Amino acid sequence: GKFVYPFGNGKADGNAGMRDLLGGKGAGLAEMSAIGLPVPPGFTITTEVCTFFNKNSGQYPSGLDADVAKALSTVEKLTGARFGNARRPLLVSVRSGARASMPGMMDTVLNLGLNDATVGGLATQSGDPRFAYDSYRRFIQMFADVVMGIDHHHFEDILQRHKTVCGLSLDTDLSATDWQDVIMEYKMKIREEAGKDFPQDPHMQLWDAIAAVFRSWSNARAVTYRKLHNISHDWGTAVNVQAMVFGNMGDDSATGVAFSRDPATGENTLYGEYLVNAQGEDVVAGIRTPQQITVAGKISHRSKLPAMEEVMPEVFQELNTVRHTLEKHYGDMQDIEFTVQRGKLYMLQTRVGKRTARAAMKIACDMVDEGVITKDQAVMRVDPKSLNQLLHPMLDPKAERRVIARGLPASPGAASGYIVFSADEAERLAHLGEKVILCRVETSPEDIHGMHAAAGIITTRGGMTSHAAVVARGMGRPCVAGASEISIDYETRKMNVRGVELSEGDTVTLDGGSGELMSGCVPTIEPELPGDFTRLMGWADERRKLGVLANADTPSDCRKALQLGAEGVGLCRTEHMFFDAGRIIAVREMILADTQEGRKKALEKVLPMQREDFAEIFRIMHGRPVTIRLLDPPLHEFLPHGEAEMNEVADAAGVDVEMVRERVIKVREVNPMLGHRGCRLGITFPEIYEMQTRAILEAAAEVGKENSTVVEVEIMIPFVSVEAEIRILKEMVDKMAEEIITEEQKVHYEVGTMIELPRAALNAGKIAHQASFFSFGTNDLTQTTFGLSRDDAGSFLPTYEKRGIIESDPFVHIDTEGVGELVRIAVERGRKSRPDLRLCLCGEHGGDAVSVDFCHEVGLDCVSCSPYRVPIARLAAAQAAL
Ligand code: ADP
Ligand code: MG
Ligand code: MG
Repeated sequence: GKFVYPFGNGKADGNAGMRDLLGGKGAGLAEMSAIGLPVPPGFTITTEVCTFFNKNSGQYPSGLDADVAKALSTVEKLTGARFGNARRPLLVSVRSGARASMPGMMDTVLNLGLNDATVGGLATQSGDPRFAYDSYRRFIQMFADVVMGIDHHHFEDILQRHKTVCGLSLDTDLSATDWQDVIMEYKMKIREEAGKDFPQDPHMQLWDAIAAVFRSWSNARAVTYRKLHNISHDWGTAVNVQAMVFGNMGDDSATGVAFSRDPATGENTLYGEYLVNAQGEDVVAGIRTPQQITVAGKISHRSKLPAMEEVMPEVFQELNTVRHTLEKHYGDMQDIEFTVQRGKLYMLQTRVGKRTARAAMKIACDMVDEGVITKDQAVMRVDPKSLNQLLHPMLDPKAERRVIARGLPASPGAASGYIVFSADEAERLAHLGEKVILCRVETSPEDIHGMHAAAGIITTRGGMTSHAAVVARGMGRPCVAGASEISIDYETRKMNVRGVELSEGDTVTLDGGSGELMSGCVPTIEPELPGDFTRLMGWADERRKLGVLANADTPSDCRKALQLGAEGVGLCRTEHMFFDAGRIIAVREMILADTQEGRKKALEKVLPMQREDFAEIFRIMHGRPVTIRLLDPPLHEFLPHGEAEMNEVADAAGVDVEMVRERVIKVREVNPMLGHRGCRLGITFPEIYEMQTRAILEAAAEVGKENSTVVEVEIMIPFVSVEAEIRILKEMVDKMAEEIITEEQKVHYEVGTMIELPRAALNAGKIAHQASFFSFGTNDLTQTTFGLSRDDAGSFLPTYEKRGIIESDPFVHIDTEGVGELVRIAVERGRKSRPDLRLCLCGEHGGDAVSVDFCHEVGLDCVSCSPYRVPIARLAAAQAAL
């Protein structure tokens, strides 16, 4: 194959479609170059070479050196400089770049090709020795870190010492001779740490750097990042070798990063930050406070520093033109890197920009209006999971806010939690179920596990494009960045906020939309959904084939579900009603009665309450289908705990407490989840299901009369494994219905079953004779298919995931090979004996985008999920259909 793909001078061998081979960065550079944007020339070594390199213990495929030499000489021709030449040296960057963007995870080396001889050439040629030695010291430090494995703090210490001794404060205050002194010390440090000299031969530098980038694919933080983002470890990274351009050549030079639209709100304006007289990573690293690109951005961040729009108006205009060109070309919002060398703009990177859910909605809708994308594309643009961010509570505007500090509104959303200062501590406490706010001076790729675990993130340094801001937006974590009034002391685990001291474990609240930090816990309210949400979800609804229902047990669940677009209730769990205060005693009385008479007496107390619950739900759902599941959990869940509760029950039933105690012992089970539960209760204690059925049908009849709309009720029998179970219970329901429902009453009922046991899936053909619908209860079906208890899986499932024994947690994404196979079998056999069988899925999986896609593929009619996940399911179902 071809290993090397050159780009530059308005041409390129590669293009945007070649991400797999060239990585995102390489493909973007090729594409930008080919459409005539100003890109410094260079070449990309493919991801296939990385794979070869890692499989063959660091060997390269034969012929690679010749290809690299040829591509390098083309770059020399285009730039008029020569690699290693002391008078006109060509300098290059060696940049990693995988198929999926992994910001900051792998390594990049800038200014490669400098040595003791070429640095002189760079000084003369640029007429700026300070610049030349500044570039050299950057190169030495990066090369030592990335290639020779010498920690960068050694170099930071040397530089700091030099600045202190000479009384200098900013890096830009150092002169050429200062840098020469620093360089000498750097080289000595390298000899001391590595036992060898910093390599002077540029070709050796180049090949060492290429190898280091390939190796960085396997470093620990890259591996973690890939795991968190479901990126395959097999893809490998490409290497981009590119002629350097310099943003550190004085005050008419700069470097920056920008988004083609505001990534937090979606507003259609260039949005970003830059630094004058700086190179590469200075902007992201937070060493100096970056300046805004637009005047509007400057005002909104209350920054006193001038915007690029004011300082370099021509370059700004050019950048704005590039923004339009790229957006039109890619049809999406872009995240770009650029450098200005002595007034000339160069583009160094473009990729699809990460954005908040709110911004994603707005950008998708705006781009449809602008004619840039179709509605289908708009529907595909928004990640269903990200909708969580929009639906979750925000701070109550009426609540008191004791604002203690302000920073940049880096990632929207509100969060309260305990202060922690390290990623490890954040992870530890989150595992214990605590909510934490991770407070850092700045974050780095080593902190991602903690950012993931935290409810919110605060940094005291860095801007809107700092690592913390970018990663938090990507993860949907609220983040306040650059809150410079806070000073953090990691040693004592305290932070000082305008003279007030806060310690680890104190509670704070942050608002990532306003950039405020507040002490204590501020109450939250339901957010208002933006108009773009309604539009986009409307397009999704027109496209999906799956119905979306909600798992809703209470009137308030039902209201929320309707508001979020549910078409009905797919699962109403009646046991939750049993727990309500005032009823639990009667329920306990019923369970503990040891005669049928006793049970009936107790059930009579429960009946009117259940009837009212159901009536309320039917009223709210107003003719939309409501599926009610008869009592499912093992009776032991309702048993009284302790003496006081036992006495209560004894009193209510008018029996001796000793009798209650005996019954409690009798009802207890060794393995209740596989015990006396579900339809087994209905078979052994028919009066329970009879009472529930009566409550349902009487409520339906009542509401049907009130509303003059037909009440659609589906009675669902849980935990069936044998056809006879459902047959017996269906007969019971039909008999009751005959008794309760008269001709003119507006009730339409059906009886169906959950498919949540492997035997039921396999016998679906028979069971379907008795059931007019199936609902796959994939929580139990996953437990019983794997023989795995959900509550006990935590101790070994993570190991299984880490070692790749299973691809993902089967309780999160449906296990398509095992559980999914049972679903397929049940669908096929069920439909064969009853072609109009209705098929739904009502486990947790109903609100998981990946699993919804599976439901679409196997041809279910609908999914049902918790109200907050209804929009996720609607969007995921539309995406599955496109
Ligand atoms: P990352 O993937 O971490 O963003 P990059 O390869 O993009 O790493 O490079 C890091 C920084 O160096 C970026 O700011 C980039 O713009 C800058 N940079 C990379 N190559 C060059 C170059 N040839 N000239 C000038 N700056 C460069
Ligand atoms: Mg970059
Ligand atoms: Mg179940």
